[in-house]
Amino acid sequence: MIEPPELRDDCFVLPPGFNWMPVPKVFELLEASLDVRVRSYSRSLADAYGCILAEPIFAKRSNPSYSNSAIDGYGFAGIQSKKSGSVCLKLLNGRAAAGHPFKERVPSGHALRVLTGAILPEGVDTVVLQEDVNTNGDEVAFRGPLKIGKNTRLAGEDIKVGQLLFDKGHILFPSDLAALASVGLGEVDVFAPLRVGVLSTGDELIEVGCDPQKGQIYDANRQMLLAQIQRSGFQIVDLGIVKDNAEHIRDILDKASKICDAVVTTGGASSGDEDHMAALLSSEGTLNIWRVAVKPGRPMAMGLWKGLPIFGLPGNPVAAFVCALVFAQPALRVLAGGKWSRPEGYMVPAAFSKSKKPGRQEYLRARLANGTVEAFSPEGSGRVTGLSWATGLVELQEPAQCIQPGDLVRYIPFSEF
Ligand code: AMP
Ligand code: MG
Repeated sequence: MIEPPELRDDCFVLPPGFNWMPVPKVFELLEASLDVRVRSYSRSLADAYGCILAEPIFAKRSNPSYSNSAIDGYGFAGIQSKKSGSVCLKLLNGRAAAGHPFKERVPSGHALRVLTGAILPEGVDTVVLQEDVNTNGDEVAFRGPLKIGKNTRLAGEDIKVGQLLFDKGHILFPSDLAALASVGLGEVDVFAPLRVGVLSTGDELIEVGCDPQKGQIYDANRQMLLAQIQRSGFQIVDLGIVKDNAEHIRDILDKASKICDAVVTTGGASSGDEDHMAALLSSEGTLNIWRVAVKPGRPMAMGLWKGLPIFGLPGNPVAAFVCALVFAQPALRVLAGGKWSRPEGYMVPAAFSKSKKPGRQEYLRARLANGTVEAFSPEGSGRVTGLSWATGLVELQEPAQCIQPGDLVRYIPFSEF
């Protein structure tokens, strides 16, 4: 009769000599090993939103390009209103308005009607608010003191010609288009969208819409990941479902290497009999990252297939989504020409208690409630409803922790990934 081993009931136990790769090490490897995989081209501003800059952008013009009035009022040489007391100036004929500069000089002792956005004519460096003025049509009177330069915007006070506006790798946000347009940049060099393939692996998987036989389940991962990738501004390539069959997986990875810049797969990344993704990367590609000390998601395999970066995520939908956000997302951004960055997290008091084991980083499905953060319970990584319930993740680092309500924990909103 054979003897059973000791019962440990811990999926993080590895045979002697094997170690889980710590999460910070995974980030370090990804940051050090990845580089842009797409070409660049010129795009008009109309099509540039969400694109990644392929060149640093320098201002071609200052903003404002000329000193101008910030208000509707009367412009004059401010030296005349520095002291307190009444100031009376002769009103010149004419006015300066936005788009209609006043062409003559405004002499000392005189003022000119100016409107918001009008270029300050020669002789004017200060503007008094129309509400602070009495006028009879020939003169304007107001009370000082008014600082020289009051109510004006100086040329270049926002952007100086030649100044660096955005770095290479910056992702263009809608407001950035205003900065580019205001200095006259109608076209920018950006990176072509990264084409990201998504592949589900598993003998048990069927497409939604099909009739399931006993033992079959619907593919929950693919549409979720395709949508997440699209939301991040990448181009999606739906690679479908493939069986747990090394030959079929090899064929589809070969095909993907011709039409994708990176591939995200789910399932088969562990070391079971039917886990072909990790095995194939290890035997015929390059397996750079495997067995990560993270929960959910420890069976994760990242590497290269004929030069194509593969993110072999676990099959459990919760683990797949968390690993896609935490590991694939920042890596894909670098492949697309962006900068490596980690999401911003916020320290928020926990509304839950949890005793966490050491030796792995954990991500809890979480959401904010009344200034605290709740965690989804139970934790089971097949429970997809927890992902819809959540608005972000709580990140718990490697050491053992005993979290009590009120303790500060790091909450990362989904939008930060
Ligand atoms: P695996 O990573 O292949 O060992 O799969 C882990 C668990 O996730 C198994 O229970 C699978 O049936 C399940 N699973 C794998 N892929 C998917 C998928 N695309 N949709 C839903 N469940 C999946
Ligand atoms: Mg499987």
